[in-house]
Amino acid sequence: MRIILLGPPGAGKGTQARRLSESTGMKHLSTGDMLRSEIAAGSELGLMAKSFMDKGDLVPDETIIGMIEQQINDPAGVLLDGFPRTVVQAQALDAALEKAGSPVDKVVYMTVDVDELVTRLSSRAICESCQTPYNLQSDPPSKEGACDKCGGKVVVRADDQPEAIKNRIKVYEELTAPVVDYYRERGEVDEIAATGTPDEVFEKLTGVIGNN
Ligand code: AMP
Repeated sequence: MRIILLGPPGAGKGTQARRLSESTGMKHLSTGDMLRSEIAAGSELGLMAKSFMDKGDLVPDETIIGMIEQQINDPAGVLLDGFPRTVVQAQALDAALEKAGSPVDKVVYMTVDVDELVTRLSSRAICESCQTPYNLQSDPPSKEGACDKCGGKVVVRADDQPEAIKNRIKVYEELTAPVVDYYRERGEVDEIAATGTPDEVFEKLTGVIGNN
């Protein structure tokens, strides 16, 4: 089974994908997490990606497609979080899945209004090691700066600074919102309002995944 989680930055795709992966055993594939691991490892790819990511721009399509292509056929099933982010990526995913002979099973579009996104992103921090997200206002780590799960360092991402947030929302509207229409034209999109507590959003998510 393959599920795509679409939605603007700050919609909670990563949080929900992580939970869904824990409850279903499906593999969570986050292109953002993969790129941050490359940066942490100091690889050439990571160095190149960082220059785009810090400003809130997208990393070039060829890099992303090459990075994710080998992983989409995981026998456990995959939860795609942060991919596809452009129509070119969605077309490349279609082509790869056609080769594998199995389509996308579900596309869930998580909606949140822009003011709420800015508030969420401005108070967000993540663990550098295991990528667990925190909200510094409503859900901070119990010990300041340290991850509850792994003890890693909890930091504010460079792309969660105000200028980068503004740019990421603009990039989302220009390049990623058309991906929602791409799947919508095929009648494949289930929309959920990603507001309320993470538990409430998870309930909505499992509702649409389970009902179809
Ligand atoms: P995320 O963790 O999904 O918010 O991604 C963080 C950053 O990684 C984005 O702002 C982009 O710079 C880059 N990125 C992640 N996924 C993609 C993608 N599918 N295409 C291009 N850039 C990406």
